Amino acid sequence: MTQATGSLHTFGRGGVHPDPHKGATSGREIEDLPAPSEVVLPLLQHLGEPAEPCVKKGELVRRGQKIAEGGKTGVPLHAPISGKIKPVDKRPHPTMAVAPSLAIGGNAEAGPELEFPEDPAWRDLPLEESLERVREAGIVGLGGAAFPTWRKLQFARAAKVDLLVMNGAECEPYLTADYRVMLAWPAEIVEGSVLIAKMAGATRVLIGVESDKPDAITALSKAAAALPTRDIPVEIVPCVARYPQGAEKQLVFAVSGRTVPNRQLPSAVGVLVQNVATAHAVYEAIRFRRPLLDRILTVTGPGIVTPRNVRAPLGASLSDIVEFCGGLAPGTSRMIAGGPMMGRALPRLDVPLIKGMNGLVLLTGRGPLEDGFGPCIRCGRCLDACPLGLEPDQVSVRVEVGRTLDTEPHGALDCYECGCCSYVCPSSRPLVQFMQVAKAALRRAAATRSAS
Ligand code: SF4
Ligand code: SF4
Repeated sequence: MTQATGSLHTFGRGGVHPDPHKGATSGREIEDLPAPSEVVLPLLQHLGEPAEPCVKKGELVRRGQKIAEGGKTGVPLHAPISGKIKPVDKRPHPTMAVAPSLAIGGNAEAGPELEFPEDPAWRDLPLEESLERVREAGIVGLGGAAFPTWRKLQFARAAKVDLLVMNGAECEPYLTADYRVMLAWPAEIVEGSVLIAKMAGATRVLIGVESDKPDAITALSKAAAALPTRDIPVEIVPCVARYPQGAEKQLVFAVSGRTVPNRQLPSAVGVLVQNVATAHAVYEAIRFRRPLLDRILTVTGPGIVTPRNVRAPLGASLSDIVEFCGGLAPGTSRMIAGGPMMGRALPRLDVPLIKGMNGLVLLTGRGPLEDGFGPCIRCGRCLDACPLGLEPDQVSVRVEVGRTLDTEPHGALDCYECGCCSYVCPSSRPLVQFMQVAKAALRRAAATRSAS
């Protein structure tokens, strides 16, 4: 059974309650970045094959025009600004050092944004046409995973899921982008969720939202009640504000009571999980054939002068976005793409905004590992905090003495790197990093075994 605290739902074991730090941006509406003079679009910013350019150097393109094809497993790219195509070149990338990228220099001669008129038949499209629109719009999971959405929908249908769980938890500290998206477009999110459910073959939608976002819960509930059709019921499920409430396994359990086994996907228990921002993008793609051109992200932390929720064209430089937010505050020492629990440290800001980036957190002061770490004192706090019941303490001590291949029984391959264990460790041990080292070694060993 799903665990409920009063009328609130949550997951079972583990989890932590970090300071949410959301107050600086939760009250700020989404603000548009002025069109940048250049955008840089890495050809690979999703899981799958890289996009293949279909425009030539010097060509003028309008905002919304397709500029690269997605191939068999990826998704296309579209021009987020009107301008002139620059040659494909290796450019700095937020998760890889450099990556082949298309760039567009802003140029008014290219003309205005393409028009995307409504398709009056949008509610009743055949399945294949709906999937094609999602694919052609270049939509990937906007919760951070960046898996092509059309493929995830196909997998879900093949796995015969019956339930769509929409993720509106946004449990990462500091981030409020999804919260503002839920307030700005509740009807579109609910409609988009129904469209996703139909494509996936699900017969019911549950939208999980943490209880610290009561106005989002109210807005979505009103939108669900106002749906013109009831063939796929949509229910909003208020959840306890607790990290990692938005992790797939934890959210599925919280809202439905179904337990996703370790190392398996939610489809193993008949569930597809999607993010609320993805539902909004799907709605735009199906109703208007509008491609994904912008990304909404939270720019916040003590290291930014004016924290904001920003809608920026994909490919905009993070430097331009930081400038729009008043610039870096004195003493900024760390830059994180995503939230502080599961985000990735950025070495530089002259990198482009990509589809999977939902936040930019700028921090001051010393990082968690700068003062080193101590030995395991066997306090057991990491065991209590792990939502999966793994043994990060055991993995860490084995990695320290070079016994990485002895870590599988302690859960190294099951870890999804939520960071709860590192967060609670009184010895400041980098338990997530130990897990990553162990996981990589175990996977390498398995690959070597299967190749021999
Ligand atoms: S929390 Fe840290 S010190 Fe305590 S058991 Fe886990 S690894 Fe050891
Ligand atoms: S990072 Fe891995 S080991 Fe640590 S709490 Fe999360 S799932 Fe458990």
